[in-house]
Amino acid sequence: MRQLRKLPLKHALKILAALLLILGIALATAGCGGPEEEDPVAPPHEEDPAAEPGEGGGGQEPVDYEALGVNELGEIMVLMYHEIGEPEDEWVRTPDNFRKDLQELYEAGFRAVSMNDVLDGRIDIPAGTTPVVLTFDDGRAGQFRYIEKDGELVIDPDCAVAILEEFYEAHPDFGLAATFYLFFSGTPFGQPNLVQEKLNYLVERGFEIGNHTNSHPNLRSLSREAAIKDIALMVKNTQEYLPGYQVRSLALPLGAFPDDMSHIIAGEYEGISYHNEGILLVGANPAPSPFSRSFIPAKIPRIRASEMKTDGVGLYEWLQVLQDNLERRYISDGDPATVVVPEELRELVNEEALRGKELITY
Ligand SMILES: [Zn+2]
Repeated sequence: MRQLRKLPLKHALKILAALLLILGIALATAGCGGPEEEDPVAPPHEEDPAAEPGEGGGGQEPVDYEALGVNELGEIMVLMYHEIGEPEDEWVRTPDNFRKDLQELYEAGFRAVSMNDVLDGRIDIPAGTTPVVLTFDDGRAGQFRYIEKDGELVIDPDCAVAILEEFYEAHPDFGLAATFYLFFSGTPFGQPNLVQEKLNYLVERGFEIGNHTNSHPNLRSLSREAAIKDIALMVKNTQEYLPGYQVRSLALPLGAFPDDMSHIIAGEYEGISYHNEGILLVGANPAPSPFSRSFIPAKIPRIRASEMKTDGVGLYEWLQVLQDNLERRYISDGDPATVVVPEELRELVNEEALRGKELITY
């Protein structure tokens, strides 16, 4: 107080007032400190200009949308695989080439999400990364195979499921997701005595099963009644193995579809009803974001994950396009509760598709 006495009275009173104010704040903070209060030492966010300007919640690091090029209205590749095996062919990817695909995608900033994640707009991947959907048609043997090793059944390390698991173990941030579009007039994945075991395994590990009809017909030339029956029978067969399992999307056999898609989207046959929230085509470009007005759930394009006869629109051609044109890519803000898009794209947002998510433009 010796110093204070040397100050003019006006200044001394100001300092005293400031001290009383600080004391008052301290008392008030201490008095209302319930269990959910923030640390009383920390200043309130509004009064601290340095505190997390772009905060999305949970005290996470702020995301620099501009620097990362965040665009949740960008395009998403839905990759279409068939057989995994030897030798490489138009509809066959070798195990090593499939491993290469995963590695290339990973290094280029892609992260695996499932088809249902896209349909739900629930894309939960790190900030700055791009979702990719892996789909497998036909239930080919090389997608999921058990082999005998030392008298025990183990998953063939060269089948798609094992390769996905192996990659996930080495790169947990890639994610583990794929959708298998099955039909039941043949045995899904071969090995008739192991179908139950395989379907259980897929569901337990978070993989999805999609509808590829029951007998793989051409839906363009099939009658409406026959198509409804075939689509419903696939659901019936799936649910016989997996009671209550909801098959939510359909990959068109041969990519063929009728002009009127209504009975492909929803129908009922002998008490078995279905609703295909997404219908997947065969070609040949990335799909629009599910938050975009351009996204048509009944016509989701896929890209052939092949390096043969791709006509310039296969996985590697598109990968290059999306590397050269980052603004075309869906780039996540890392928060599945928000949809972040550049201001100039706001008009293209389908508000209905937000389903409660917060829209942020920048
Ligand atoms: Zn097929």
